[in-house]
Amino acid sequence: MTSIPSRADAVIVGAGIAGLCTALPLAKAGRTVVVLDRGAAWGDASGANAGTLSLQVKRPEVLHVTRRAIELWQAMRAELGADVGFAKPGGLRVATSEKELGMLRGSMAVQASLGLETEWLEGNRLRDAAPWLGPSVRAATWCDWDALSSPLLAGRALLAAARRRGVTVQDQAEVTAIAALDRGYRVTTAAGTVDCAQLVIAAGAWTGKVAALLGVDLPVDADVNMLSVTEPAPPLLDKVVTHMGGVLSLKQYPNGTVMIGGGWQGRGSHQSMRRETDHLNLLHNMRVACAIVPALKDLRLVRSWAGFEGVASDALPLLGALPGRPGAFVNACARGGYSQGPALGEQMAELMLTGRTSLDVARFDPARFAAAGAHA
Ligand SMILES: Cc1cc2nc3c(=O)[nH]c(=O)nc-3n(C[C@H](O)[C@H](O)[C@H](O)COP(=O)(O)OP(=O)(O)OC[C@H]3O[C@@H](n4cnc5c(N)ncnc54)[C@H](O)[C@@H]3O)c2cc1C
Repeated sequence: MTSIPSRADAVIVGAGIAGLCTALPLAKAGRTVVVLDRGAAWGDASGANAGTLSLQVKRPEVLHVTRRAIELWQAMRAELGADVGFAKPGGLRVATSEKELGMLRGSMAVQASLGLETEWLEGNRLRDAAPWLGPSVRAATWCDWDALSSPLLAGRALLAAARRRGVTVQDQAEVTAIAALDRGYRVTTAAGTVDCAQLVIAAGAWTGKVAALLGVDLPVDADVNMLSVTEPAPPLLDKVVTHMGGVLSLKQYPNGTVMIGGGWQGRGSHQSMRRETDHLNLLHNMRVACAIVPALKDLRLVRSWAGFEGVASDALPLLGALPGRPGAFVNACARGGYSQGPALGEQMAELMLTGRTSLDVARFDPARFAAAGAHA
Protein backbone atom coordinates (compact mmCIF):
# COMPACT_ATOMS: atom_id res chain seq x y z
CA MET A 1 0.00 0.00 0.00
CA THR A 2 1.32 3.50 -0.82
CA SER A 3 1.38 6.05 1.95
CA ILE A 4 0.33 9.67 2.00
CA PRO A 5 1.79 12.50 4.09
CA SER A 6 0.38 12.53 7.63
CA ARG A 7 -0.23 16.29 7.55
CA ALA A 8 -1.04 18.95 5.00
CA ASP A 9 -2.39 22.47 5.04
CA ALA A 10 -5.17 21.41 2.70
CA VAL A 11 -6.67 18.09 1.66
CA ILE A 12 -8.78 17.95 -1.47
CA VAL A 13 -11.10 15.01 -2.08
CA GLY A 14 -11.28 14.40 -5.83
CA ALA A 15 -8.62 14.75 -8.53
CA GLY A 16 -10.84 16.04 -11.33
CA ILE A 17 -10.78 19.55 -12.75
CA ALA A 18 -12.38 21.01 -9.61
CA GLY A 19 -9.81 19.45 -7.29
CA LEU A 20 -6.71 20.10 -9.39
CA CYS A 21 -7.67 23.68 -10.26
CA THR A 22 -8.12 24.35 -6.55
CA ALA A 23 -4.85 22.62 -5.63
CA LEU A 24 -2.65 24.57 -8.05
CA PRO A 25 -3.26 28.11 -6.75
CA LEU A 26 -3.06 26.86 -3.15
CA ALA A 27 0.32 25.28 -3.85
CA LYS A 28 1.42 28.39 -5.69
CA ALA A 29 0.61 30.37 -2.53
CA GLY A 30 2.92 28.08 -0.55
CA ARG A 31 0.35 25.72 1.01
CA THR A 32 1.06 22.01 1.32
CA VAL A 33 -1.71 20.19 -0.53
CA VAL A 34 -2.77 16.55 -0.76
CA VAL A 35 -5.31 15.57 -3.42
CA LEU A 36 -6.96 12.19 -2.87
CA ASP A 37 -8.81 10.18 -5.46
CA ARG A 38 -10.77 7.00 -5.05
CA GLY A 39 -9.67 5.70 -8.43
CA ALA A 40 -7.23 7.08 -10.96
CA ALA A 41 -6.76 10.85 -10.92
CA TRP A 42 -8.73 12.47 -13.77
CA GLY A 43 -10.55 9.15 -14.14
CA ASP A 44 -14.17 10.31 -13.95
CA ALA A 45 -16.11 13.18 -15.54
CA SER A 46 -13.03 15.30 -16.16
CA GLY A 47 -11.36 12.55 -18.17
CA ALA A 48 -14.53 11.48 -19.98
CA ASN A 49 -15.91 14.81 -21.13
CA ALA A 50 -16.26 16.45 -24.52
CA GLY A 51 -13.88 19.37 -24.02
CA THR A 52 -16.40 21.97 -25.18
CA LEU A 53 -15.75 25.38 -23.64
CA SER A 54 -18.87 27.17 -24.82
CA LEU A 55 -19.78 30.45 -23.17
CA GLN A 56 -23.06 31.07 -24.95
CA VAL A 57 -24.71 27.85 -23.77
CA LYS A 58 -24.19 28.70 -20.13
CA ARG A 59 -26.93 29.78 -17.75
CA PRO A 60 -26.89 33.51 -16.94
CA GLU A 61 -25.86 32.80 -13.34
CA VAL A 62 -22.54 31.29 -14.43
CA LEU A 63 -21.65 33.47 -17.43
CA HIS A 64 -19.17 35.56 -15.45
CA VAL A 65 -17.27 32.56 -14.08
CA THR A 66 -17.23 30.84 -17.46
CA ARG A 67 -15.86 33.95 -19.13
CA ARG A 68 -13.08 34.11 -16.54
CA ALA A 69 -12.49 30.38 -17.00
CA ILE A 70 -12.04 30.76 -20.75
CA GLU A 71 -9.42 33.45 -20.09
CA LEU A 72 -7.66 31.00 -17.78
CA TRP A 73 -7.95 28.19 -20.34
CA GLN A 74 -6.36 30.48 -22.89
CA ALA A 75 -3.45 31.24 -20.56
CA MET A 76 -3.03 27.61 -19.47
CA ARG A 77 -0.39 26.57 -21.96
CA ALA A 78 1.92 29.33 -20.75
CA GLU A 79 0.95 28.81 -17.10
CA LEU A 80 1.45 25.03 -17.10
CA GLY A 81 4.17 24.84 -19.73
CA ALA A 82 2.24 22.21 -21.67
CA ASP A 83 -0.30 22.02 -24.46
CA VAL A 84 -3.89 21.54 -23.30
CA GLY A 85 -5.32 21.47 -26.83
CA PHE A 86 -6.93 24.88 -26.38
CA ALA A 87 -8.37 26.57 -29.46
CA LYS A 88 -10.87 29.38 -29.70
CA PRO A 89 -12.54 29.05 -33.10
CA GLY A 90 -15.78 30.60 -31.83
CA GLY A 91 -19.10 28.86 -31.78
CA LEU A 92 -22.49 28.73 -33.42
CA ARG A 93 -25.58 27.97 -31.39
CA VAL A 94 -28.12 26.84 -33.92
CA ALA A 95 -31.92 26.87 -34.02
CA THR A 96 -33.92 24.50 -36.20
CA SER A 97 -37.55 25.29 -35.34
CA GLU A 98 -39.79 28.31 -34.72
CA LYS A 99 -39.76 27.57 -31.00
CA GLU A 100 -35.95 27.40 -30.92
CA LEU A 101 -35.68 30.66 -32.88
CA GLY A 102 -37.72 32.37 -30.16
CA MET A 103 -35.63 30.78 -27.42
CA LEU A 104 -32.41 31.78 -29.16
CA ARG A 105 -33.51 35.42 -29.48
CA GLY A 106 -34.51 35.42 -25.81
CA SER A 107 -31.20 33.93 -24.74
CA MET A 108 -29.28 36.42 -26.90
CA ALA A 109 -31.10 39.34 -25.24
CA VAL A 110 -30.39 38.05 -21.74
CA GLN A 111 -26.73 37.53 -22.59
CA ALA A 112 -26.45 41.04 -24.08
CA SER A 113 -27.91 42.46 -20.85
CA LEU A 114 -25.09 40.68 -19.01
CA GLY A 115 -22.39 42.03 -21.31
CA LEU A 116 -21.99 39.06 -23.64
CA GLU A 117 -22.50 40.20 -27.23
CA THR A 118 -23.33 37.51 -29.75
CA GLU A 119 -24.18 37.97 -33.42
CA TRP A 120 -27.39 36.80 -35.11
CA LEU A 121 -26.70 34.92 -38.36
CA GLU A 122 -29.23 33.66 -40.87
CA GLY A 123 -29.64 33.31 -44.63
CA ASN A 124 -26.55 33.91 -46.74
CA ARG A 125 -24.52 35.26 -43.84
CA LEU A 126 -25.03 32.02 -41.96
CA ARG A 127 -24.29 29.84 -45.03
CA ASP A 128 -21.14 31.88 -45.77
CA ALA A 129 -19.95 31.51 -42.18
CA ALA A 130 -20.72 27.78 -42.04
CA PRO A 131 -21.38 26.21 -45.45
CA TRP A 132 -21.31 22.79 -43.79
CA LEU A 133 -24.57 23.37 -41.88
CA GLY A 134 -27.61 21.45 -43.10
CA PRO A 135 -30.80 23.06 -44.45
CA SER A 136 -32.65 22.33 -41.20
CA VAL A 137 -30.62 25.09 -39.47
CA ARG A 138 -32.66 28.30 -39.67
CA ALA A 139 -30.44 30.68 -37.71
CA ALA A 140 -27.58 30.74 -35.24
CA THR A 141 -25.91 33.04 -32.80
CA TRP A 142 -22.18 33.46 -33.20
CA CYS A 143 -20.03 33.83 -30.09
CA ASP A 144 -16.31 34.44 -30.52
CA TRP A 145 -15.61 33.28 -26.95
CA ASP A 146 -16.64 29.68 -27.62
CA ALA A 147 -13.64 27.39 -27.45
CA LEU A 148 -12.46 23.84 -26.89
CA SER A 149 -9.64 21.98 -25.25
CA SER A 150 -8.47 18.39 -25.04
CA PRO A 151 -9.44 16.69 -21.75
CA LEU A 152 -6.67 14.16 -22.36
CA LEU A 153 -3.94 16.79 -22.70
CA ALA A 154 -5.40 19.06 -20.02
CA GLY A 155 -5.49 16.22 -17.48
CA ARG A 156 -1.87 15.32 -18.13
CA ALA A 157 -0.77 18.95 -17.97
CA LEU A 158 -2.66 19.76 -14.77
CA LEU A 159 -1.44 16.63 -12.99
CA ALA A 160 2.17 17.23 -14.03
CA ALA A 161 2.01 20.89 -12.98
CA ALA A 162 0.43 20.02 -9.62
CA ARG A 163 3.15 17.45 -8.90
CA ARG A 164 5.86 19.89 -9.98
CA ARG A 165 4.50 22.38 -7.47
CA GLY A 166 4.78 19.79 -4.72
CA VAL A 167 1.14 18.71 -4.57
CA THR A 168 0.71 15.06 -3.55
CA VAL A 169 -1.88 13.51 -5.85
CA GLN A 170 -2.78 10.11 -4.50
CA ASP A 171 -4.70 7.56 -6.58
CA GLN A 172 -6.60 4.61 -5.05
CA ALA A 173 -7.23 6.62 -1.88
CA GLU A 174 -10.98 6.54 -1.32
CA VAL A 175 -11.97 8.77 1.57
CA THR A 176 -14.01 6.63 3.93
CA ALA A 177 -14.16 8.77 7.09
CA ILE A 178 -13.63 12.39 8.11
CA ALA A 179 -13.31 13.35 11.77
CA ALA A 180 -13.25 16.90 13.13
CA LEU A 181 -10.12 17.81 15.15
CA ASP A 182 -9.73 20.83 17.45
CA ARG A 183 -8.55 22.68 14.38
CA GLY A 184 -9.08 20.93 11.11
CA TYR A 185 -9.89 17.40 10.06
CA ARG A 186 -8.52 13.87 10.06
CA VAL A 187 -9.20 12.22 6.72
CA THR A 188 -9.12 8.43 6.54
CA THR A 189 -8.50 6.82 3.19
CA ALA A 190 -7.71 3.45 1.70
CA ALA A 191 -4.08 4.64 1.44
CA GLY A 192 -3.60 6.06 4.92
CA THR A 193 -4.68 8.97 7.13
CA VAL A 194 -3.93 12.65 6.74
CA ASP A 195 -4.67 15.61 9.05
CA CYS A 196 -5.33 19.03 7.58
CA ALA A 197 -6.38 22.52 8.54
CA GLN A 198 -8.59 22.92 5.46
CA LEU A 199 -10.59 20.36 3.54
CA VAL A 200 -12.20 20.67 0.11
CA ILE A 201 -14.82 18.27 -1.18
CA ALA A 202 -14.40 18.19 -4.95
CA ALA A 203 -15.79 14.73 -5.47
CA GLY A 204 -18.02 15.41 -8.47
CA ALA A 205 -21.09 13.19 -8.53
CA TRP A 206 -20.09 11.72 -5.15
CA THR A 207 -19.90 15.07 -3.36
CA GLY A 208 -23.10 14.34 -1.44
CA LYS A 209 -21.67 11.04 -0.25
CA VAL A 210 -18.43 12.66 0.96
CA ALA A 211 -20.29 15.58 2.62
CA ALA A 212 -22.37 13.01 4.49
CA LEU A 213 -19.12 11.83 6.15
CA LEU A 214 -19.13 15.27 7.80
CA GLY A 215 -22.80 15.00 8.67
CA VAL A 216 -23.88 17.48 6.00
CA ASP A 217 -26.70 16.79 3.53
CA LEU A 218 -26.18 18.19 0.04
CA PRO A 219 -28.76 17.43 -2.68
CA VAL A 220 -26.42 16.05 -5.33
CA ASP A 221 -27.50 13.71 -8.09
CA ALA A 222 -25.81 12.75 -11.35
CA ASP A 223 -26.57 12.85 -15.04
CA VAL A 224 -25.23 10.00 -17.18
CA ASN A 225 -23.97 11.93 -20.19
CA MET A 226 -23.03 10.15 -23.40
CA LEU A 227 -20.37 11.06 -25.91
CA SER A 228 -19.22 9.65 -29.24
CA VAL A 229 -16.13 10.14 -31.35
CA THR A 230 -15.73 9.54 -35.08
CA GLU A 231 -12.83 8.33 -37.13
CA PRO A 232 -10.42 11.08 -38.27
CA ALA A 233 -11.81 12.98 -41.25
CA PRO A 234 -10.70 15.84 -43.48
CA PRO A 235 -11.74 19.28 -42.18
CA LEU A 236 -15.56 19.33 -41.97
CA LEU A 237 -16.48 21.97 -39.43
CA ASP A 238 -14.29 24.79 -38.17
CA LYS A 239 -16.40 26.04 -35.25
CA VAL A 240 -17.89 24.70 -32.05
CA VAL A 241 -21.55 23.88 -32.69
CA THR A 242 -24.23 23.74 -30.05
CA HIS A 243 -27.99 23.55 -30.33
CA MET A 244 -30.56 25.83 -28.75
CA GLY A 245 -32.59 22.75 -27.90
CA GLY A 246 -29.65 21.78 -25.69
CA VAL A 247 -29.23 18.37 -27.30
CA LEU A 248 -26.07 18.67 -29.32
CA SER A 249 -22.47 19.71 -29.08
CA LEU A 250 -20.09 19.15 -31.97
CA LYS A 251 -16.53 20.00 -32.71
CA GLN A 252 -13.66 18.69 -34.79
CA TYR A 253 -10.24 18.28 -33.23
CA PRO A 254 -7.00 18.98 -35.15
CA ASN A 255 -6.51 15.21 -35.62
CA GLY A 256 -9.76 15.17 -37.63
CA THR A 257 -11.94 13.31 -35.15
CA VAL A 258 -15.37 14.80 -34.46
CA MET A 259 -16.75 14.70 -30.94
CA ILE A 260 -20.53 14.32 -30.81
CA GLY A 261 -22.30 14.95 -27.52
CA GLY A 262 -24.86 17.27 -26.05
CA GLY A 263 -26.22 15.60 -22.96
CA TRP A 264 -28.22 12.69 -24.32
CA GLN A 265 -28.57 10.36 -21.37
CA GLY A 266 -27.12 6.90 -20.93
CA ARG A 267 -28.17 4.41 -18.28
CA GLY A 268 -26.78 3.77 -14.84
CA SER A 269 -26.32 5.31 -11.45
CA HIS A 270 -23.41 6.97 -9.68
CA GLN A 271 -24.40 5.08 -6.52
CA SER A 272 -23.84 1.70 -8.15
CA MET A 273 -21.01 3.11 -10.35
CA ARG A 274 -22.64 1.34 -13.30
CA ARG A 275 -22.93 3.27 -16.53
CA GLU A 276 -23.65 2.28 -20.08
CA THR A 277 -24.74 3.88 -23.31
CA ASP A 278 -28.43 3.91 -24.21
CA HIS A 279 -28.61 2.91 -27.85
CA LEU A 280 -31.92 4.60 -28.59
CA ASN A 281 -30.69 7.89 -27.16
CA LEU A 282 -27.45 7.52 -29.11
CA LEU A 283 -29.50 7.14 -32.29
CA HIS A 284 -31.37 10.36 -31.48
CA ASN A 285 -28.04 12.07 -30.82
CA MET A 286 -26.68 10.95 -34.21
CA ARG A 287 -29.90 11.91 -36.01
CA VAL A 288 -29.74 15.47 -34.64
CA ALA A 289 -26.00 15.70 -35.40
CA CYS A 290 -26.42 14.55 -39.00
CA ALA A 291 -29.35 16.91 -39.58
CA ILE A 292 -27.22 19.83 -38.45
CA VAL A 293 -23.96 18.79 -40.15
CA PRO A 294 -24.95 16.36 -42.94
CA ALA A 295 -21.35 15.41 -43.79
CA LEU A 296 -21.21 13.48 -40.52
CA LYS A 297 -23.38 10.80 -42.13
CA ASP A 298 -20.36 9.48 -43.99
CA LEU A 299 -18.13 9.07 -40.93
CA ARG A 300 -17.76 5.94 -38.85
CA LEU A 301 -18.16 6.13 -35.10
CA VAL A 302 -15.10 4.79 -33.32
CA ARG A 303 -16.41 4.81 -29.77
CA SER A 304 -19.33 5.91 -27.60
CA TRP A 305 -19.21 6.10 -23.81
CA ALA A 306 -21.05 7.41 -20.79
CA GLY A 307 -19.86 9.30 -17.71
CA PHE A 308 -21.32 10.80 -14.55
CA GLU A 309 -21.80 14.53 -14.15
CA GLY A 310 -22.67 15.65 -10.62
CA VAL A 311 -25.56 18.09 -10.43
CA ALA A 312 -27.01 19.95 -7.45
CA SER A 313 -30.80 20.11 -7.27
CA ASP A 314 -30.85 23.69 -8.62
CA ALA A 315 -28.19 22.89 -11.24
CA LEU A 316 -25.89 25.65 -9.96
CA PRO A 317 -22.34 25.05 -8.73
CA LEU A 318 -21.61 24.30 -5.10
CA LEU A 319 -18.77 26.60 -4.15
CA GLY A 320 -17.94 27.86 -0.70
CA ALA A 321 -17.58 27.01 2.96
CA LEU A 322 -19.68 24.27 4.51
CA PRO A 323 -21.77 25.90 7.23
CA GLY A 324 -21.04 24.67 10.72
CA ARG A 325 -17.87 22.92 9.59
CA PRO A 326 -15.00 25.41 10.05
CA GLY A 327 -12.25 24.92 7.49
CA ALA A 328 -14.36 22.64 5.26
CA PHE A 329 -15.32 23.71 1.75
CA VAL A 330 -16.97 22.33 -1.34
CA ASN A 331 -16.21 22.91 -5.03
CA ALA A 332 -18.44 20.68 -7.12
CA CYS A 333 -21.41 20.18 -9.40
CA ALA A 334 -20.98 23.01 -11.87
CA ARG A 335 -22.99 21.90 -14.90
CA GLY A 336 -20.55 21.95 -17.78
CA GLY A 337 -17.98 22.03 -15.02
CA TYR A 338 -15.02 21.34 -17.28
CA SER A 339 -15.44 24.77 -18.89
CA GLN A 340 -15.83 26.50 -15.56
CA GLY A 341 -13.24 24.48 -13.63
CA PRO A 342 -10.25 26.82 -13.78
CA ALA A 343 -12.25 29.83 -12.56
CA LEU A 344 -14.12 27.93 -9.86
CA GLY A 345 -10.81 26.48 -8.62
CA GLU A 346 -9.30 29.95 -8.59
CA GLN A 347 -12.24 31.33 -6.59
CA MET A 348 -12.16 28.40 -4.18
CA ALA A 349 -8.46 28.96 -3.49
CA GLU A 350 -8.99 32.71 -3.03
CA LEU A 351 -11.69 32.02 -0.46
CA MET A 352 -9.47 29.56 1.41
CA LEU A 353 -6.47 31.88 1.37
CA THR A 354 -8.10 35.26 2.01
CA GLY A 355 -11.71 34.67 3.04
CA ARG A 356 -12.86 36.54 -0.07
CA THR A 357 -13.36 35.95 -3.79
CA SER A 358 -12.71 38.33 -6.67
CA LEU A 359 -15.85 37.18 -8.53
CA ASP A 360 -19.36 37.18 -7.11
CA VAL A 361 -19.98 33.54 -6.28
CA ALA A 362 -22.49 34.10 -3.47
CA ARG A 363 -25.26 32.26 -5.38
CA PHE A 364 -23.18 29.09 -5.33
CA ASP A 365 -22.78 29.06 -1.54
CA PRO A 366 -23.52 25.53 -0.31
CA ALA A 367 -25.25 27.13 2.68
CA ARG A 368 -28.32 27.45 0.44
CA PHE A 369 -28.81 23.72 1.09
CA ALA A 370 -26.53 22.72 3.89
CA ALA A 371 -27.80 25.17 6.52
CA ALA A 372 -31.02 23.23 6.68
CA GLY A 373 -29.37 19.90 6.04
CA ALA A 374 -26.52 19.82 8.56
CA HIS A 375 -27.43 17.12 11.02
CA ALA A 376 -24.34 16.51 13.09
C1 LIG B 1 -19.71 12.48 -21.15
C2 LIG B 1 -19.54 13.85 -20.57
C3 LIG B 1 -19.35 14.94 -21.40
C4 LIG B 1 -19.19 16.21 -20.86
N1 LIG B 1 -18.89 17.24 -21.69
C5 LIG B 1 -18.57 18.45 -21.16
C6 LIG B 1 -18.14 19.49 -21.99
O1 LIG B 1 -18.01 19.34 -23.20
N2 LIG B 1 -17.85 20.70 -21.43
C7 LIG B 1 -17.97 20.91 -20.08
O2 LIG B 1 -17.71 22.01 -19.63
N3 LIG B 1 -18.35 19.91 -19.26
C8 LIG B 1 -18.66 18.70 -19.75
N4 LIG B 1 -19.01 17.67 -18.94
C9 LIG B 1 -19.10 17.93 -17.50
C10 LIG B 1 -17.72 17.93 -16.87
O3 LIG B 1 -16.99 16.82 -17.31
C11 LIG B 1 -17.85 17.91 -15.35
O4 LIG B 1 -18.73 18.93 -14.92
C12 LIG B 1 -16.49 18.14 -14.68
O5 LIG B 1 -15.50 17.35 -15.25
C13 LIG B 1 -16.62 17.81 -13.19
O6 LIG B 1 -15.35 17.85 -12.63
P1 LIG B 1 -15.14 17.44 -11.12
O7 LIG B 1 -13.72 17.61 -10.81
O8 LIG B 1 -16.15 18.17 -10.29
O9 LIG B 1 -15.60 15.90 -11.06
P2 LIG B 1 -14.82 14.58 -11.52
O10 LIG B 1 -13.98 14.80 -12.69
O11 LIG B 1 -15.85 13.51 -11.57
O12 LIG B 1 -13.84 14.33 -10.31
C14 LIG B 1 -14.33 13.92 -9.04
C15 LIG B 1 -13.35 12.91 -8.49
O13 LIG B 1 -13.71 12.62 -7.14
C16 LIG B 1 -13.30 11.29 -6.89
N5 LIG B 1 -14.01 10.79 -5.70
C17 LIG B 1 -15.32 10.59 -5.52
N6 LIG B 1 -15.56 10.11 -4.28
C18 LIG B 1 -14.37 10.01 -3.66
C19 LIG B 1 -13.96 9.59 -2.38
N7 LIG B 1 -14.83 9.15 -1.44
N8 LIG B 1 -12.64 9.59 -2.07
C20 LIG B 1 -11.73 10.04 -2.99
N9 LIG B 1 -12.08 10.46 -4.23
C21 LIG B 1 -13.38 10.46 -4.56
C22 LIG B 1 -13.70 10.55 -8.17
O14 LIG B 1 -12.97 9.34 -8.29
C23 LIG B 1 -13.38 11.58 -9.23
O15 LIG B 1 -12.12 11.37 -9.85
C24 LIG B 1 -19.23 16.40 -19.45
C25 LIG B 1 -19.45 15.30 -18.61
C26 LIG B 1 -19.58 14.03 -19.16
C27 LIG B 1 -19.76 12.87 -18.22
